[in-house]
Amino acid sequence: MILPESLAGLALLAGLLGLCIGSFLNVVIHRLPRMMEQEWLAQCAELKGEPHPVSEPLTLARPRSRCPACAHQITALENIPLLSYLFLKGKCAGCGAPISLRYPIIEALSGLLSAYTAWHFGATAQTAGALLLVWSLIALAAIDLDTQLLPDSITLPLLWLGLAFNLATTYRDLPSAVIGAMAGYLALWSVFWLFKLATGKEGMGYGDFKLLAALGAWLGWQMLPTIILLSSIVGALVGITLIVFARHGRNIPIPFGPYLAAAGAIALFWGPQLSERYLGLIY
Ligand SMILES: [Zn+2]
Repeated sequence: MILPESLAGLALLAGLLGLCIGSFLNVVIHRLPRMMEQEWLAQCAELKGEPHPVSEPLTLARPRSRCPACAHQITALENIPLLSYLFLKGKCAGCGAPISLRYPIIEALSGLLSAYTAWHFGATAQTAGALLLVWSLIALAAIDLDTQLLPDSITLPLLWLGLAFNLATTYRDLPSAVIGAMAGYLALWSVFWLFKLATGKEGMGYGDFKLLAALGAWLGWQMLPTIILLSSIVGALVGITLIVFARHGRNIPIPFGPYLAAAGAIALFWGPQLSERYLGLIY
């Protein structure tokens, strides 16, 4: 039994780690879609027999972060999560251009969720895995909001990682996890095709299937109805709000990934209670 004081210390430690990871997630969210685009352009050029379009490809590590307005290179001191933003009063040290509020929001979200993860699961392997899952979900949600893409380079490793953790029944027994991965993919795949056959439109992307497959691998097939229900409820509420208040066009696609990611995180922490109390399913 872990003492409350040491649990608070663990949560604090995880929170600090989460802040730093949040800073890295900002880089991933910003660069990964651009790296994918560079890769596609390079592949197109290769097929057409043209020279490689980019001489120095972007990576997560290189080049160092710069201000998009004046190309001022961000120093280590200006790169401390949250504190630097407050210290710089949200402005670039070089040119005074405002720094997007997105950066500190992602850092704070990652810090808070990491602290809560450690508090919730304690000093267990569950905390280690849940941290990786939560960080991935934050990156996926933000990238999907920005670009309507859920990169395979995150969703597929996440799926395998979920299965790997459940080899030791960390969250679920292995058969439930394997069935969860298959059923998660098939569930949205079927909805996609039914919707497409009925309306001729594509309501979601293949990335969504892979994300739900990954969540199934982590949390087991038993949690899939809860995740789909939660993401639909949140998605419908946000969608209606956007259409009514922000005059968001009905035909502008609203990405589904952020809702799936949010529902996945809720199911990770409170899934069993939710299913038991409100859905009366399985448990
Ligand atoms: Zn600047």
